[in-house]
This record gives sequence, structure tokens and C-alpha cells, in this order.
Amino acid sequence: MKRPLSFLFLSLFLVVTSHSQTQNTKAIIGGTVIDGAARAPIKDAVIIIEGARIKEVGARNKMKIPKGAYIIDAQGKFVIPGLADMHNHLGDGSFNFAQQDPKKNLAELLAWGITTVFDTAIDMKSFSEFKKISAEDTASYPRFFAVGRQFGAKGGWGSFQGGYTPDTPDEARAAVREMKSANVDAIKIVYDDMSWLTKRTMPMLKPEVMGAIIDEAHQQGLRAYVHAPILKYAREALRAGADGFVHGIISDPVDDDFVTSMKKNRAVYIATLVLFEACADLAGWSQRERAFDDRGIINKEVYDMLSSPATIKQWVTGWNNIPYTKERMATLRANLKKLSDAGVPVITGTDTGVPGVLLGVSSQMELTLMAEAGLKPEEVIRAATINAARMIGREKDLGSIEAGKLADLVILDANPLADVRNIRRTYRVMKGGVLYDPAQLFQTNAK
Ligand SMILES: [Zn+2]
Repeated sequence: MKRPLSFLFLSLFLVVTSHSQTQNTKAIIGGTVIDGAARAPIKDAVIIIEGARIKEVGARNKMKIPKGAYIIDAQGKFVIPGLADMHNHLGDGSFNFAQQDPKKNLAELLAWGITTVFDTAIDMKSFSEFKKISAEDTASYPRFFAVGRQFGAKGGWGSFQGGYTPDTPDEARAAVREMKSANVDAIKIVYDDMSWLTKRTMPMLKPEVMGAIIDEAHQQGLRAYVHAPILKYAREALRAGADGFVHGIISDPVDDDFVTSMKKNRAVYIATLVLFEACADLAGWSQRERAFDDRGIINKEVYDMLSSPATIKQWVTGWNNIPYTKERMATLRANLKKLSDAGVPVITGTDTGVPGVLLGVSSQMELTLMAEAGLKPEEVIRAATINAARMIGREKDLGSIEAGKLADLVILDANPLADVRNIRRTYRVMKGGVLYDPAQLFQTNAK
């Protein structure tokens, strides 16, 4: 008897759920809308959604709720645009590379309130697959953007995750054209000897090869984003026309000349503060993640493993310049603040998948660390929403809660402007007009 009964119950549940989801018009009522477009929050607001898009947003007393709309009660809650993680590798952040299921990890990010993901190094088979599965507005995955194969030196990061390791400008240009025909969203270059983390430095791309990649990317209508945490290399990249950085600058304080070059290039800045925290102090950082993850979403064994003496021994042996990294953390934070204050678009990104940069929790914690670096909560929210949309040229569709845009948003139980850490108080996530209960998403994904 037990099985048919629960089956009946399950079918009933599915009907109720799918009925609400197929209702074309939805209205989110009574919440405070923080629209991500730099306007003042709207209290007791109504958001009307039709299909995948936002039709209207405004104060309740000025809005007419369409008859028959599916009502989402957001009284006492806060609605922000869906969050973006613009530097993600879809790993879970443990050391179990072999057991990774990036597709499942991508799905899980949606439960953390991440509706847009930018992958900064991915093999082309996964690139095509993830583009396909996430393409529909109704797909229960974040929107997926990626660079395809990254560019780097032979024996360095270029040899990692099937990247390109061009030796000449001609080779580099041919590879960029290959990426263009594969429809990637941008080009990514690693220009770093890793001396900020290890004394066993890594080989680097020749400057003229790096320059050729950027130039060809621009000729193909693609933006070129560079990994260059060392200031002198970042300057070189800017002179070659780089459109932004996918890691913060940790080696030295950025000066006014650097700021001017950033603005001249209209370059963006992703600090990946969480990555540097993990590099500098893996044990301490993983314990901070554990405390932040107060719903206990991530398996506690992962936190135990990341802070175990055996892991730490392996970590500091592999990366033997960590004292330097630690010492420069203040510079990293000050650089973010200086660039943000100067009006350079700063954007959230994590490098999720690197050990200690845990899936989901680190995407949320990047916002917290940005606030700790001195950014105002509203600046942090823009970094995770509208600035990210602009980075991929999708600001007409994404990044704010405005009429005409795609209905990608997060409903929170607590005010993120009072405390950015409240972005973890996810009540519901909406992507493309489809409403998700994060708890259910975590459960489905755990199966
Ligand atoms: Zn990365």
C-alpha cells in the first residue's frame, strides 16, 4: 500500500507545482525591490512577470495586478536581481577532481541564487553541452557563458584544462579564430608566472603572443580577459588592449597610471578575493566558509578535509610562497577599493573549483569580502548583477529588475543592504520567470 499512496501524493504535488509554473503571468507582491540599477529601493513593491520577462515594476499602490496571475507573496522580503559568478570552473572546491560532476555543480549554483555563470576555462565538449542544457529560459540551470579553451604558456596554465599554448603570434591568431567559430563569449589569457604563490615559477606566454591574442580577439569582435595578479604583467596586458582582469592585483598597490589605463580600455576588474583567501590560509578560510554555510549545505567532511593537517602540509609544500601571499592580502583589498572608488566596474567572481573555493558558498562569500574591503552593499550588489551583465554585453536582458528584462531574481528573507551576508537568506530563486525553492533544488541535485 505504501508505494501507490506516496506515488499518488507525489503526482498531486507535481501537478500543483507545474500548474503554478505554466501560469504565464506571475506577480511578486509586497517585497522591497532592490533593482540593481542604482535606483532607491522600492518598498511594498509589485513585480509583474509575463513568461520569461519582467513586464512591470513599481510600488503596490500604483500597480494593477492582472487577474488570474500566480501570486508570490514577498511581504517582509527583499528582491534582488539574480547573482552572477563571473569566474567559475564548476568544480566543488574539494580535491576530488576525478569525481567532479560539473553539470550537477552548474545546476547547484542556481540553488545558491546564482543565475549567471561565466566559465573561464573549459573544454569544448563541455562548453557545447552546458550551452545547450542551459539555453532555454525554463532550464533549471544558471545562464552559462564561457571562454572555451584558455590561452597560456606550455607547461603553465595553458597546458591545464586543454588550453591553447601558442608559441607564435600566427598560432595565437589561428587559435582565437577557432574559438570565434566555436561561438565562445570571450577570450581568456593567463599571463602570470605564479611567483605570488610559489617560488617554483611557471613559464609565461611571450609578450608578443599575448598581444596577438588580444588584437585578434578584438578583430573577431571578442573581448579578452586576462589572469595577471602581478602588477607589471597586468600593465603589459593593458598596454596590449586587455578588456579586464579575472583576478585582482596582489603584488603591488595600483597607482593612478594603472587606473587611467583601466578606464582608457574600459576594463573590468574581478578580484576573486575568495581565491586569494583560500591560497593564503586554506584551513582558516575553509572554517570561515563552514561558519557562513550555516544551513550546512556542504558536507562537513569537505570542511574537515580542507583544514586537516595532511591537506595543509600538501598545500604549503605545493605552494611554497604563501607567506608572501598572506602579507599582500591587504594590498589586494585596497586595490579593489581604489579601483571601485575610481569608477572601474568591479565584478564578482571566485575561481570556484580551486581547492578551498567551494561551490556556491564562495560565490556568496565573495560579496561579503568585497564589503569587508570597504565597498558599500549597493556597490557589491551591482558588482554581482548589472556590472556582470555589461561584462558579457547582456545588460539589455540581464542584471537588474526592470521592465523588459529577463526575470532572473532572488527573493531574500533579510535585507542585503543592511548586511551583505543576508544574500545567503535565499527564500526563492527565479530564472527566466520560473520560480524555484532552493531547498528543493538542493534536494533534487543531491540525488
Ligand atoms: Zn580560474
